[in-house]
Amino acid sequence: MSVARTLRTVAELEEAGLVPEGSSLAEIARVGERYAVAITPAVAALVDASDPGDPIARQFIPDAAELTVLGEERADPIGDLAHSPVEGIVHRYPDRVLLKAVHVCPVYCRFCFRREMVGPAGLGTLTPEQLDAAIDYIATHPEIWEVILTGGDPLVLSARRLSDIMQRLAAVEHVKVVRIHTRVPVVEPERIDADLVAALKASGKTTYVALHANHPRELTAQARAACARLIEAGIAMLSQTVLLKGVNDDAEILADLMRAFVENRIRPYYLHHPDLAPGTSHFRLGLGEGRAIVERLRGRISGLCQPTYILDLPGGYGKVPVLSTAVEETDDGRFRISDFRGGEHLYPPQPGD
Ligand SMILES: *Cc1c(COP(=O)(O)O)cnc(C)c1O
Ligand code: SF4
Repeated sequence: MSVARTLRTVAELEEAGLVPEGSSLAEIARVGERYAVAITPAVAALVDASDPGDPIARQFIPDAAELTVLGEERADPIGDLAHSPVEGIVHRYPDRVLLKAVHVCPVYCRFCFRREMVGPAGLGTLTPEQLDAAIDYIATHPEIWEVILTGGDPLVLSARRLSDIMQRLAAVEHVKVVRIHTRVPVVEPERIDADLVAALKASGKTTYVALHANHPRELTAQARAACARLIEAGIAMLSQTVLLKGVNDDAEILADLMRAFVENRIRPYYLHHPDLAPGTSHFRLGLGEGRAIVERLRGRISGLCQPTYILDLPGGYGKVPVLSTAVEETDDGRFRISDFRGGEHLYPPQPGD
C-alpha cells in the first residue's frame, strides 16, 4: 500500500484499504480510541492487504481481539513503575538505567508492552526540568555504567535534542555505554540521516543501537541502508525481537530473521517472550511452545545468529533467560522461575497473583 504520510486514525487506515475485509469497523474504532495507532509509509508499503495472515499487518493494524483483556494482563507488565526513582528513569539493575525521555513512537505496535504509557494519551515527553532531574540522577549514581534510551522510541526526537542528551551523558565520567532501543531504521529509515547519526555519537563513549524487528520482510533495502549508515559511523548494532503468535512463531522465520540481522552486521541479542500487556492474548504463546521453537534454532543456524530467549518477569523482577536452569516446568504446566536476586515466581501468574 502506498501512502504519502503516517496514518494515525482508523478512518485513515480504512481509506487507505488497510483494514481487512470482514472486520468490524465499530470494534476497530473502539480499539483506536483505547490504544494509539500509527503506520508510517514504509510500513504501509510492506503490508500485503490481500493476505489475511500478513505478519506485518498483524503487528500494526488494530484488531478487535485487543478488546479482550484477561485477568493476568497488567497495565505495567514488567513493573517499570516499581523501580522509577525519578520521572523518566527506571533503575532495576545496579549498573544500568533506562532513560525514557519520550513516550511517542513512529508506529504503534499492537502487542506493545508499554501500550498504556505510549501514544498521544500516554506519558508524553519529559519536561526540561524532568530531564535535568533524570540526568542529575545518573550523574549522582556512580554505579551506573550504561544508560539505555528507550520510551517510546527515542529516535523520534530531533537530532538537536538527541545530541543535547548525548552530550550531557558524555559529560558523566562513570557512564561508558549508551544504548538506544528503536524501531526507526525499519519503520522510518529516511530519518537516519547524517545529522541524526552524528547526534548519536558522544565523545569518549560507546553507542549501541538495538533495532526492534520481528519479521525478515521488515529488513528492506532502505532499512538495511539505514543500519549501514549507523554502523559505518562506528555505532554497534544489536537486535531485539518479540516472539509473536502469527508473526514469527516458527523456527524457519526466526532463522531467516536472525541471519538477515547478522548479514547486516547486527548481532542478535534478545528474543522476548511476549509480555502480559492488556488486550494482547492473541499474540501470546505458551512458554513451553516458545522453548520448543527456540530449541529448534540450535544447531540449525550459526552461533552468531542465536538470540537469547528472555522472559521479563511480571512485577519488575527482571529478565530471565528461558532456556536455563532458572526456568523449570511444574506438574500443572506452569513454570517455576527464579529471578536474578533468587526470588521464586510461578508463570504465567493466575489472575490476582
Ligand atoms: C530490559 C531492561 C534493562 C536492560 O537489560 P539488559 O539485560 O542489559 O538488556 C535494564 N533496565 C530495565 C529496567 C530493563 O527493563
Ligand atoms: S515501538 Fe516499542 S514502545 Fe513503541 S509501540 Fe512498538 S513496542 Fe511499544
